[in-house]
Amino acid sequence: MSQTKQFQAESKRMLDLMIHSIYTHKEIFLRELISNASDAIDKRYYQALQADGTGGGLTRESFEIALKIDKTARTLTVTDNGCGMNAAELESNLGTIARSGSLQFKQEIGNAEEIDVIGQFGVGFYAAFMVADEITVESRKIGEEDAWRWHSEGAEGFTVAPCEKADVGTVIRLRIKENTEQEQYDEFLEPYRLRELVKRYSDYIRYPIRADMPGSRPKPLPEDAPEDAQPEWETYTERQTLNSMTPLWRKNKNEITEEDYNGFYREAFHDYEPPLRIVHAATEGDITYQALLFLPAKPPANYYSKEFEKGLTLYSNGVMIMERCKDLLPDCFSFVRGIVDTQDLSLNISREMLQHDRQLKRIAANIEKKLKAELKSLLEEEREKYHALYKSFGLNLKYALYAILSQSYGMQREDALAAFLEFTSTARETPVTFAEYIAAMPEGQEYIYYASGESAAQIKRLPQCERLTEKGWEILCLTDDVDEFLFRILREIEGKELRAVADAGEELESEEEKTALESAKENAKTLLAACKEALEGKVAEVTLTTRLKTHPVCLGTQGGVSLEMERVLQSQPGAEGAPPLKAERVLEINANHPILQKLTAIQEDADTLKRYALLLYNQALLIEGFPVEDAVEFSNAICSLMV
Ligand code: ADP
Ligand code: MG
Repeated sequence: MSQTKQFQAESKRMLDLMIHSIYTHKEIFLRELISNASDAIDKRYYQALQADGTGGGLTRESFEIALKIDKTARTLTVTDNGCGMNAAELESNLGTIARSGSLQFKQEIGNAEEIDVIGQFGVGFYAAFMVADEITVESRKIGEEDAWRWHSEGAEGFTVAPCEKADVGTVIRLRIKENTEQEQYDEFLEPYRLRELVKRYSDYIRYPIRADMPGSRPKPLPEDAPEDAQPEWETYTERQTLNSMTPLWRKNKNEITEEDYNGFYREAFHDYEPPLRIVHAATEGDITYQALLFLPAKPPANYYSKEFEKGLTLYSNGVMIMERCKDLLPDCFSFVRGIVDTQDLSLNISREMLQHDRQLKRIAANIEKKLKAELKSLLEEEREKYHALYKSFGLNLKYALYAILSQSYGMQREDALAAFLEFTSTARETPVTFAEYIAAMPEGQEYIYYASGESAAQIKRLPQCERLTEKGWEILCLTDDVDEFLFRILREIEGKELRAVADAGEELESEEEKTALESAKENAKTLLAACKEALEGKVAEVTLTTRLKTHPVCLGTQGGVSLEMERVLQSQPGAEGAPPLKAERVLEINANHPILQKLTAIQEDADTLKRYALLLYNQALLIEGFPVEDAVEFSNAICSLMV
């Protein structure tokens, strides 16, 4: 019996972690063993090609990774015909954690919370101890006659002893743990479960992963069987290749049909509607990666909920290392699904390190550029498709844009993103972009106008809009909560100021009108002051305006908070209790409306004036789409006029 050797100190700690792991994704052990097998085959194949350029008779087809289950013995065996290991290599490769890519991981395991990384990123060979209480590795190295058996039952250590093995390669036999009350290990002895795991994590390993799969089929009926005879069923096993080997994204674009893409999309992302757009990108050079991106037709059901996680599936050389890797996708494009495969990323990289990985950052930047270009061409060439996409994702785009701008206090411009926004407008049936709006601006119009409200129909009827639409100036209708906040921080597009219709005024008035207005205000000074007093606590100002045409009054604001913003802010969860952010209301009375004469006529009668002022203020609120402040008071005021 050979002498038991100790694992190197750090390995032992790692092993302890594995053995007692409470991690739920124990299944990743299989991915780790398979990718080691694949690496070993790569090495052998490469060496063979190096030796004589022909591979010494070896071709890709000479290799395989085999899985075998023995339920009675509770063993799962992973066999490869790769480069193999000799005694020294078995000892150092499997006895020392520093050998493996797990080194980086080791530095983080001091913290128990980091155990989570195990599942996401794997820790190599030792992951097998999550599911096995005994591991035997038999290996014969290429070019050597002797074979060796490495054996371990866990943290106590391991032995290495000679053994018999006819072929070059490695056999790893796991004795799967017994089920406990908390944990089921039997699943790793089920062929279908293994197939599932191979599909999930190792589908694009370049060598076939094979196993005997059970099936059942009807027995052929004897010739003389009666017409209505039911066939008997028999069980059989069939050797199957479990992985599809070549990833779709590594194939040549012209070899891939649309159905291939759609089928892949359907399977990978469980979306039965074909994607609106497919982006298949490969970059060679100093960053090597392939990306296959899909713009879905509809957002997933939980898209606008907290549960939704954005991200692309990240593969390293065909091995899935992370689902929903969020660092690969900017927030504005969180609706995009897809995969990225890069050649030079370690399987064992941790979440933290991934975030700082320069290679990954550059891939992410590339992807963002590609997506922008794709959306732009969709917008310019296939407007209807674009509109369909926008309906699902536009809101997210606006929030993301707002977040970028507000984080930089409006210093950072993101006009490329703003160009993707669509709005309804008072002037047309179909949605309009900023560029289209600007292109349609008539002579004399300087600003991009907008108004907030419930709907385009309601906005169209706002008193403030009347003179603008009369001039043929288009008004963008803002109907989402985020819109006005976004517009305030965007400030301008292509040098054109974004202007709320409530702020329009001067540009609508001729010089004469301006002078007339000034003198009207002067004349009505006492009246306006009296109205303001009557509306004490409700409005900050009462003034005259000429920007209304037929309407008697409208409600404007001064300062940074508009009525719409006040409404949105107050409806935010958690807004109760917080000091209310109020819009400073300004009641504007139409200087050319008979109501002004009426008010002037009764201004000596303080009670009546107060009632009139209150009525006008409430009317203005109603027109803006807000409830009156005191419905009973309002109704009484009307009644007193009627009787
Ligand atoms: P990593 O794969 O990141 O190096 P692992 O813990 O998975 O770390 O494996 C440790 C080392 O053991 C590998 O680097 C390799 O040298 C060796 N090894 C593991 N499995 C095999 C195998 N099936 N054939 C040959 N060598 C192997
Ligand atoms: Mg490995």
